[in-house]
Amino acid sequence: MEKLEKLYEGKAKKMYATDDPNVLWVEYMNQATAGNGAKKAQIAGKGSLNNRITSVLFDLLAARGVPSHFLRRISDTEQLVRRMDMFPLEIIMRNVAAGSFAKRYGVEEGTELRCPILEFCLKSDELGDPFINDDAIVALGLADERQLAEISRQARAVNDALTDVFASIDVRLADFKIEEGATGDGTILLADEITPDTCRLWDLRDRSGRIEHLDKDLFRRDLGSIIPAYEEIHSRLLALAASEGVETGEKAVTE
Ligand code: ADP
Ligand code: UDP
Repeated sequence: MEKLEKLYEGKAKKMYATDDPNVLWVEYMNQATAGNGAKKAQIAGKGSLNNRITSVLFDLLAARGVPSHFLRRISDTEQLVRRMDMFPLEIIMRNVAAGSFAKRYGVEEGTELRCPILEFCLKSDELGDPFINDDAIVALGLADERQLAEISRQARAVNDALTDVFASIDVRLADFKIEEGATGDGTILLADEITPDTCRLWDLRDRSGRIEHLDKDLFRRDLGSIIPAYEEIHSRLLALAASEGVETGEKAVTE
């Protein structure tokens, strides 16, 4: 496997082509952004932690019957994934009111929900990732009805499996964002990343009565360094994977 030209540099990752047209080489950067890029910082160690965390999570999801684009982690900050045509959607699942949802509906963060909520936003930095509903997604041709039904089914399956994973390490999965793509033959798969940058993770081992954030809200809200929190998530996930016999190691590029 050979690393070829850079195809894209986003806010958190660089994507490179490889000599296999079906495989992308992903490099996780130390950059942290919030508020659609309005707030920016370089945080040493973040790229490595997110690369490791998302790799373990994709492995734990696979062990629960939820497939993804993830192929293997090849270094501290790099991994190989299946190359997909991405749907321009941020797919958000919520298990408890938080963030923009709590603000939008005027409820306190932490308010219980009677059922999980699936929401979509159009992935567009220019427009600030506006909310979009199912009809608009189909009407604008962003996904057809069949694809949207499959994306929604997968989002709920990811939520079920991830909620189980995080509950096993004493963390409440408040909400998260995923992205999905389609392979050349039309197979729809979970892609991008699942990290504390893209999830709200509340520590259930904390008994203070306050919400103890183990996620990017620490950065967004200036609550403290993200690194110890991300390290905590990583070490708890590694312990869970070991207890389940899920292999999480780095693998050779050429494998
Ligand atoms: P952003 O584009 O939001 O700044 P990143 O820095 O994380 O985000 O960039 C990663 C980019 O790669 C995103 O645009 C994402 O949609 C895309 N991507 C993620 N997984 C895949 C994949 N398997 N195939 C093709 N593109 C992908
Ligand atoms: N999220 C994300 N990328 C985005 C927007 C949201 O990963 O561009 C995640 C965020 O980490 C949270 C969930 O999606 O876990 C819901 O975010 P929300 O809509 O509440 O937005 P925010 O309060 O972050 O603006």
